[in-house]
Amino acid sequence: MARLTIIKEGDDTLRKVCRPVTEITPRILRLLDDMVETMHHAQGVGLAAPQVGILRRIAVVETEPGTVYELINPEIIASEGEQIGTEGCLSSPGEYGVVTRPMTVTVRAMNRKGEIICYTGSELLARAFCHELDHLDGILYKDKASRMLDPKELD
Ligand code: ZN
Repeated sequence: MARLTIIKEGDDTLRKVCRPVTEITPRILRLLDDMVETMHHAQGVGLAAPQVGILRRIAVVETEPGTVYELINPEIIASEGEQIGTEGCLSSPGEYGVVTRPMTVTVRAMNRKGEIICYTGSELLARAFCHELDHLDGILYKDKASRMLDPKELD
């Protein structure tokens, strides 16, 4: 596995719409492994392929240590409720904003075996799913933030 470089906000790559994965190749599997390692090293709860310069519909999420969601061609197929909370992004280190997201979402995605699986998550997991899926359409959380936090509001 290899650690990848995370692209920072301001790079056009983060504004592109990613293409679906049509076939799970060894290259895609290696990318998943590398994205998980990169997310761990950066201590993030999610990472999307465009953040490492790959314009494919792939994201990894891990809000609870040890439970990694590898999402290929993910889609939100149901959402419910609302939560207002603080959000950040590995592409914008040190910055946080207040974003309203659904309280619960169901994501349908392909896993690394090519199986279609649905995952339902609430609270932080729902927020992470929404945040990472937005990346695949070139959307950053700041586009949706009601306000950004002042550095003084941070610990
Ligand atoms: Zn992000």
